[in-house]
Amino acid sequence: MEKYRSFDEIQIALKKGESDCRSIVNYYLQNIQTKAHLNAFVEVYAQSALEQAEKVDQKLVAGTAGRLAGMVIGIKDVLTYEGHPCTASSKILNGYVSQHTATAVQRLLDEDAIIIGRLNCDEFGMGSSNESSVYGKVLQEIGTNRVPGGSSGGSAVAVQANLCTVSLGTDTGGSVRQPAAFTGVIGMKPTYSRVSRWGLIAYASSFDTIGIFSTTLPDNARILEVIAGYDTKDSTSSSVEVAPYSNSLQFNKKVKIALLKEALHAPSLQAEIKENTLSVAEKLKLAGHEVEEVEFPLLPYVLPTYYILTTAEASANLARFDGVKYGYRSPKAPNLEQLYKNSRSEGFGEEVKRRILLGTFVLSASYHDAYFTKAQQVRRIIKDQTEKLLTEFDFLLLPTTPTTAFKFGEHGDDPVSMYLEDLFTVQAAVAGVPAISIPNGKDKKGLPIGLQVLANTFKETELYAFSHYLSTLTLN
Ligand code: GLN
Repeated sequence: MEKYRSFDEIQIALKKGESDCRSIVNYYLQNIQTKAHLNAFVEVYAQSALEQAEKVDQKLVAGTAGRLAGMVIGIKDVLTYEGHPCTASSKILNGYVSQHTATAVQRLLDEDAIIIGRLNCDEFGMGSSNESSVYGKVLQEIGTNRVPGGSSGGSAVAVQANLCTVSLGTDTGGSVRQPAAFTGVIGMKPTYSRVSRWGLIAYASSFDTIGIFSTTLPDNARILEVIAGYDTKDSTSSSVEVAPYSNSLQFNKKVKIALLKEALHAPSLQAEIKENTLSVAEKLKLAGHEVEEVEFPLLPYVLPTYYILTTAEASANLARFDGVKYGYRSPKAPNLEQLYKNSRSEGFGEEVKRRILLGTFVLSASYHDAYFTKAQQVRRIIKDQTEKLLTEFDFLLLPTTPTTAFKFGEHGDDPVSMYLEDLFTVQAAVAGVPAISIPNGKDKKGLPIGLQVLANTFKETELYAFSHYLSTLTLN
């Protein structure tokens, strides 16, 4: 029988004395083993998870346990955890063992959560299908030849297949929301700077945001209220006060919702996704909310802006992987220059190399102003316009993805067609506003559909409460 789908279920079992943390960890370990073919975990921390479970069990008896006692969490392979390997699913970090613990992970541990392992992802978070991992692809539990989404594909499937209670991923341009939509779970990307990035292997630092996968909204909110907040180790983290999100889920007001015209009428939007989105909009109207179709003519510019800026930032961030400081070093290195060249050529995969080259190009002296500076100016306009829309309206509603999960290999050698999969998720990333994807029915093939909600900067409380309410109107 399936158990421990949510933290509520775990807390009830613990309170009634029907279970303890050790047995709960063992339950998930068993599931991970049975479903090993999904390839969601690249490493399971059985020993440290069981040790932590024992400590938490003692604290529960003593009445000193933290807020997340009994919560079992998987972390994307870009988040450091002292004494455990971390590779960004790349050969270049082969053999690297973390010397510190990411702030977000540490805050979970401080509240007595249990970290059960690290999860597969696209190499350095670059991708939309989890096909670019050195550990191979992740399969969906629903047993099709469809991708789980990316880059946090392992984190999404771990929750979909009940291999942990919740998981952490990272969202630079959609990597939490898109795999959540493809796998039928909840995926939240908070406001940029809401969660410290310390201990997160950087892809594009002005976009990277740690996000949360869960099957219930209260669980998602519980995690964010623990990991959010200012961190002295990340000067970009925000000192805006963290609200008790999980205690503020009641929603009983009438709101104004904007439906993005350009998204709803995008030629690439799958008919069933459009239908399901409109059906929810209709129900919102019937319930007395104001729903209006609005124009956002900047939408076609969001994707190019995203890919220019993120590749530029990636080319700078990934310069540190040189075969000397971390992980992989080429054995064929007659001199220092060849050592750098060979280590990077052999250590990075195709997609990462493509982005480093593109990023180096847009930053090069003759093209800097035409591409990088221009994209930064466009980013500012997109951010201002998005925030303006979100002051006129409480929420913005649009599909999470143009299509449901596509087939492995479908985008083959055409990276641009893969990038177009991010069409609807990049806006929140470029603007830095919070966004969530919640399940909204399935298409005719039985593949999950995601509905995306955006709110203004630091409006996580409102976003969670509205999404909680919205999940009573979505299709199952
Ligand atoms: N698919 C997008 C990309 O490849 C988003 C990735 C992410 O959010 N990490 O850049």
